[in-house]
Amino acid sequence: MNREEPLPAPALIDEETLRGYLADRLPSELMARVEKALRESASLRARLEDVRNDREDFQLHSLGAIWRRSRLTCPTRQQLGSYLLDALDPDLGEYFRFHLEIVECPFCQANLADLEAQSVAPSAVHESRHRQQRILKSSEHLLNEDGN
Ligand SMILES: [Zn+2]
Repeated sequence: MNREEPLPAPALIDEETLRGYLADRLPSELMARVEKALRESASLRARLEDVRNDREDFQLHSLGAIWRRSRLTCPTRQQLGSYLLDALDPDLGEYFRFHLEIVECPFCQANLADLEAQSVAPSAVHESRHRQQRILKSSEHLLNEDGN
């Protein structure tokens, strides 16, 4: 647990702060603190969702705002790969899901889609190789019957 900055208790983060967070209106230090508090508190995440549902007019879709925020908190490509494979610590996995589905970070969504496309390709290759082996195997007895 890092103690350099006292975190505001989740209960002390009010709706105005959450709105500011969604609209990227907060100073970056506070943005980071709210993000950390969100990571640690399921009830605060639920409140953020409420605030978000209440207000569709915030500037979440300003690309510049999202970009600034994502650089603060985006998972690395490698972490996204582990997320895809379900190989993450459950808390971290939940946070990434939050980042992708609630924050809807377009940068990470694109990254994830790209990784998904890549991970489909090798398994398709594997599948066709597997089929080749099966065909080979099923024709083995024919070769044997030829009495070689
Ligand atoms: Zn992101």
